[in-house]
Formats: sequence, structure tokens, C-alpha cells
Amino acid sequence: MRGDEAAVSGVLCFIGIGSNLDRPLERCRDAVQWLTDMDGIGFLRRASYYKSEPAGLSDQPWFVNTVAEIRCSLSPRELLGRLQEIEAAMGRTPGPRWGPRRIDLDILLYGQDVVDEEDLVIPHPEMHRRRFVLVPLHEIAPWAIHPAFGVSMAGLLARLEDPLRVLPLED
Ligand code: ADP
Ligand code: MG
Repeated sequence: MRGDEAAVSGVLCFIGIGSNLDRPLERCRDAVQWLTDMDGIGFLRRASYYKSEPAGLSDQPWFVNTVAEIRCSLSPRELLGRLQEIEAAMGRTPGPRWGPRRIDLDILLYGQDVVDEEDLVIPHPEMHRRRFVLVPLHEIAPWAIHPAFGVSMAGLLARLEDPLRVLPLED
């Protein structure tokens, strides 16, 4: 299905976008363009760009993060495959989990589906603990419900304890 058709009938999904290598803001913009051009994905909008203190390995550059709202005519696994194709095409090379990366695309929410497989967990298992996810997601979809907890993004953000800073990025 073409992107514009998926945008009408597909499942509402939210994709986390992050980069902290090789001009991160441009890398995030490139990723948005890839999502816009991808068959089976209808790009609806994105949150603002934010700069985020790194989680995990702290001795690395700050990240640029945003969240994209899409409609998608692909299965969750097909969507993961497309996101991994974009990461590869953008030149992401293997590195440590939590380590620096040129681009990171994560499925945060896929409609109200819950997926729990070895290499695919939806909602993303860390999203409710991460300010750099919840701030942009709440900006565009404060009403969205985490299907496993039955709590909105506004509720998750109000309960969040993550001390790592997330600041608006002028763009
Ligand atoms: P992270 O984003 O957690 O820092 P990576 O981007 O290196 O880690 O991804 C590692 C693996 O996470 C991927 O190979 C993928 O199979 C798996 N994964 C599990 N659930 C998801 C999800 N919801 N979105 C994206 N990747 C996921
Ligand atoms: Mg990832």
C-alpha cells in the first residue's frame, strides 16, 4: 500500500527517533523523510525536536530526539523490518546497546496491540521510564493510552521519575 493510502486506513503508531552521532538533527530529519517515503507507512506529523542527556552510557554526546505519528498498513514485525532497513540505509553500524548511534528508530506504540516476543516488544519496554520518549510523545498525543498499563501519556509523564534532562531544541 502506498504511504498516502496507509495514512487513511492504517493502524495509528508512534515511532521514537533518536541520534547522537554525525550531526544528529540532520540525521533525525533524514529519518523523518525516510518514513514519509516508505510504502506501507503514512506519515502524519512529528513532535518538536529535543536535546536529551544520554541514558545508559553517560560518556557520549547528548541526543536529539523526537517522535513521529504514523499510520501503518504493515504488521508489527514488517514495521520493525522497515525501520531496521532505514537504520541500515542511513549507515547505522552495530554498536553497544545504549551506546552512541547515528540513528535509532523504535516502535513505541502500535495501535493498542501488545507484542511480547524475544526480539520485538510493544509497547517499547522502556518508554514509560524515559523522559526523552514521553516528552515528545506527550506533546503530540497526551491522550494516547499505554495498552498494558491503561494509563495515558499525560499520566505516565506525571508519574515519571527520570532525572535525565530533556530540553527543547531550536530548529
Ligand atoms: P535500543 O533501541 O533499545 O537502544 P537497539 O536499537 O540496538 O536498542 O535495538 C536492539 C533490538 O531491539 C532490535 O534488534 C530489535 O529486535 C529489538 N526491539 C525489541 N522491541 C523493539 C521495538 N519496540 N522497537 C524497536 N526495536 C525493538
Ligand atoms: Mg532501537
